Amino acid sequence: MAVSHQPVMVDEVIQYLITIPDGIYVDGTVGTGGHSLEIYKRIAHKGTLICLDIDRSSIHLAKERLSAFEDRIKIVKESYVAIDKVLKKIGIDKVNGILLDLGVSSYQLESSGRGFSFVRDEPLDMRMDEDRGAGASELVNTLSMERLQELLWINAQERWAKVIARAIVKERQKGPITSSRQLALIIETTIPAKYRPRTRHPATKTFQALRIAVNRELENIAKFLEKCPSLLVKGGRVVVISYHSLEDRLVKQAFHQRNKENISPRKLPIFPTKRPPLMKALTKKGLRPGYKEVTDNPRARSAIMRVAERTYNE
Ligand code: SAH
Repeated sequence: MAVSHQPVMVDEVIQYLITIPDGIYVDGTVGTGGHSLEIYKRIAHKGTLICLDIDRSSIHLAKERLSAFEDRIKIVKESYVAIDKVLKKIGIDKVNGILLDLGVSSYQLESSGRGFSFVRDEPLDMRMDEDRGAGASELVNTLSMERLQELLWINAQERWAKVIARAIVKERQKGPITSSRQLALIIETTIPAKYRPRTRHPATKTFQALRIAVNRELENIAKFLEKCPSLLVKGGRVVVISYHSLEDRLVKQAFHQRNKENISPRKLPIFPTKRPPLMKALTKKGLRPGYKEVTDNPRARSAIMRVAERTYNE
């Protein structure tokens, strides 16, 4: 199968992530291996790369693409939330860099057949990990109207949350909602033409909200950010590329919170109770892709990249 996914902000990822060529690096969201291939080229024959993903078919494609480099690359089907367990299992204590490229891959959107996109008519599943949890159709057919409304509002700030939730509940009384096109049509016909957004499909936010819920995306990022500092060596870096403001807010808070804990030296008590921050943000505002990349690769449009570095050993 052709791999159409173009990795986002590759030059910036390489520049920030790789501090030493013979280090140990983790690509926590390998997808079809776009970033990993570039990382491998920079560390070739010296460093080690560990790749994770929860999507079985993506792991399969990544293995095919990266099989020539098996000596230096280890690919595991596991969540980045379990990164500590994966490292422990292979006898690694700390690493030099971790990359998370969040969101959904072009492969998942275009070829996985799991209903990530309203453009095609596919079973409404949206699970990245097909071995676990409930799919989108289960949420759509079983959640109460209030819960659906809340989900659409919290995960995507859909201003038509109430109207869409009501339409879904009404529609499912006739029979279960099972396909992506069916759901897209319900939303399309519910939102009055004059209020439909001009630049995107009216179902965009509903699909985003469902995908985030099905894959527990925000919960996972928060859990990862908690454990990440303890897995890095001094000078080791974490690079996260987010694709919407909720993700980015979590990353920003985690990277900058620790900076705020920093007490000005003048105010430092003689016996300081608080230690200086373990992580320092290297990107104050978050980096955005350049104009050319955005025009060449639509997936880059909403990308925002943040980097933090571990400042000292405990
Ligand atoms: N950088 C990749 C594309 C990544 S797209 C490339 O260049 O090809 C995002 C990927 O994150 C998807 O493949 C998705 O399955 C994966 N993903 C989502 N949640 C995950 C999790 N909790 N653990 C590991 N991978 C996850």
